[in-house]
Amino acid sequence: MSESSTAEAMLVSMGEMVSVAGDAVASIFSATPEIVSVAWSKKTCRCGDVVQVNVTLSSEGFDGTLVIGVLDHMRGVKIGNFTIPVKGGVTFRQAVTSIKLVDVWGGAFDFLAAVELRDAQWNVVAEKSAAELLTVVRPANALSPQNISGGWRTCPKWEYDKKTALWAKGQEHYGWPCNYQLEFKDGEIIVTCKVKLTARAPFVLTDAHKARWRAEIEGYWAGAYEVHRVLCKWGLQCGCTYHCCRHPIVIQCEFVDQGEHCEVEVIGGACDKEWGDTDWWCSSVWWEDWSDNVPKAVRAHEFGHLLGLYDEYLGGAMSPSVDPNTVTFDDRSVMSSGAAPMKNHGGTLIVSINTLLKDKFYLRWLRPL
Ligand SMILES: [Zn+2]
Ligand SMILES: [Zn+2]
Repeated sequence: MSESSTAEAMLVSMGEMVSVAGDAVASIFSATPEIVSVAWSKKTCRCGDVVQVNVTLSSEGFDGTLVIGVLDHMRGVKIGNFTIPVKGGVTFRQAVTSIKLVDVWGGAFDFLAAVELRDAQWNVVAEKSAAELLTVVRPANALSPQNISGGWRTCPKWEYDKKTALWAKGQEHYGWPCNYQLEFKDGEIIVTCKVKLTARAPFVLTDAHKARWRAEIEGYWAGAYEVHRVLCKWGLQCGCTYHCCRHPIVIQCEFVDQGEHCEVEVIGGACDKEWGDTDWWCSSVWWEDWSDNVPKAVRAHEFGHLLGLYDEYLGGAMSPSVDPNTVTFDDRSVMSSGAAPMKNHGGTLIVSINTLLKDKFYLRWLRPL
């Protein structure tokens, strides 16, 4: 009769271990067995996956301890040690939660499992390492198709009724084109909107304008978000630093002459109009200079519309899901009168990111107010 013994454990932090002995039946036999096999349950895994080390002994009845060492193969450092009482068993399983420790990708091996069998006096009586190593992989570089934001946004124009002091849906709608591209590159998610600028005469656009505006727009949106794999077992505690299961979102505004996602007309000087005028700032009409009748982050706000975001102020192009009679907007938001990228702005990217990487991610907002 042979009974298998199982241990479930997690590598709770670097070099630490927790193990729980499974059921087993002690045997009257005590011949020293050989370690027949040591193998990872998979050849490759994602960071944060639980992977098993499977060990088989040649015979039952031995009363000793299996010591399963997990080694960081690239540096030769032991990063986990798990002990399982043999208690007469023959097959054993040890769960290990993988983690990426070295920023080397593309076929480089990450983990080796090395097993020692020790007797009651803690002498090593058998040793064996897994023939196959475990490799932590991340998605291959990929580029989304264009037009992923749907190409167009529309929402009702609400009107304020002074008599009733309520907002009512008007007959008209706001509508604007929006479009961008997603790229997964070496662990980063790059959101790019390519904008073709056209100067309204007599204004003349220069490369200096473009460089300044790009830096300005990207400055407001920089470092705001990352995504984390839903299935990463490290969960909210995940501290991975190699873009293995956590991927930063980089938002880029590229000014191009062709292959654009969106078009914007630029008027020279500063806006001297009032809100509601035809030539006010909007997603497709920008002004050369900032003026104090608009928020400081106005250009980053208009760029937000090109990414498909709605206004977050009463009377603006608010999301169709918003009722202005009950909504409360945070005026610190870049889509309101403030300058901050908000959590919901990044959330709109998740579906496209999941599609591109064929996985499930949740958003982490890195600049909470
Ligand atoms: Zn993780
Ligand atoms: Zn990770």
